Amino acid sequence: MLEQDKVDLIIGFEAGSLKFTTTPLITKSKDDLDRLVINPFIVNNLALFLPDFKGRIAVASKGCDSRSIVSLIQDNKVSRDDLVIIGIPCPGMIELRKVEKLTGKDRDELDDIIREGDKVVITVDGKGSEFPIAEVLSDNCLACEFPTPQDYDILLGEPTATSQESRVKSRESRVKGQGSRVQSHGEGGGLQSEASPDSRLQTLKAMSPQQRWEFWRKEFSRCIRCYACRNICPSCFCKRCFVEESEPRWLMPMPRWQENLMFQAIRNIHLAGRCTDCGGCERSCPVNIPLRCLTKEMYDLVDELFHFKAGMDKDAPPLMTHYEQEEAEDLIR
Ligand code: SF4
Ligand code: SF4
Ligand code: SF4
Repeated sequence: MLEQDKVDLIIGFEAGSLKFTTTPLITKSKDDLDRLVINPFIVNNLALFLPDFKGRIAVASKGCDSRSIVSLIQDNKVSRDDLVIIGIPCPGMIELRKVEKLTGKDRDELDDIIREGDKVVITVDGKGSEFPIAEVLSDNCLACEFPTPQDYDILLGEPTATSQESRVKSRESRVKGQGSRVQSHGEGGGLQSEASPDSRLQTLKAMSPQQRWEFWRKEFSRCIRCYACRNICPSCFCKRCFVEESEPRWLMPMPRWQENLMFQAIRNIHLAGRCTDCGGCERSCPVNIPLRCLTKEMYDLVDELFHFKAGMDKDAPPLMTHYEQEEAEDLIR
């Protein structure tokens, strides 16, 4: 496409500088194209970059990324006419934190991680061990509703056959009887994502309001307000975020737990009807705060209350810009 001048820019993935990582490749040069990769570690949602570039852009897109792209089109942040969407039917992303926990090894100590269908072979010290793939997929991938891009110009392969149900079933049969666990505090999010992908949410919902408040107090006491969760998110597209406003000043720069929680609460309201559950924010958090418990709850609430899923129809108005008469009456009551 670059050679034929069909696009000005390609946004894809290349191998990262660390083992088992990839990084976005943004290039105008056809000489860079042999650096492009597709593998189980292409976690970034490349929709993030689209509003920053002008011209015609070819962009690699997994299922969740394609919905973020459509959401940006709905918000008039990008034009569909300027895009060539290279769709990747997505089998799910491998979560390195889960691999480390499963093997008891740091990622630097692993020789290889190879996906083979519904299994993953992890090699340590020259010895390969096989695990069900559901043991190491990201929670959002285990719960994924639309792994095949919703909108694309080229699809690299057949639509993904693996359904959310079969992934969850396979996962649940593996962990049957374990249930979900809540730790009193700590690194790793406090909630352990060891049962079904949404069991952390169910555990939180089963708590009393006081317990939940205490849980989030502890979690957000660890937040260092680095804003990685915001910066990685394609739906957080405001040029000037409310957290940086000085008149009025919504938040003090010092990361206190109350304001850290308020930052996430307001961020989630801004993301209602825009979040595609791509998992980027939780994955990027350096202190492992279980942010998906907030974003997925908002995702489900939007679906339940408004029958709306983000990024499904580029011609539909964005959720937060219109309302139906009956919705308003419901809210007023
Ligand atoms: S949520 Fe996971 S499985 Fe679904 S499209 Fe995105 S990366 Fe792929
Ligand atoms: S990425 Fe984590 S530590 Fe950084 S601001 Fe977000 S919640 Fe806080
Ligand atoms: S809020 Fe998190 S999960 Fe949702 S679109 Fe943004 S980065 Fe992805």
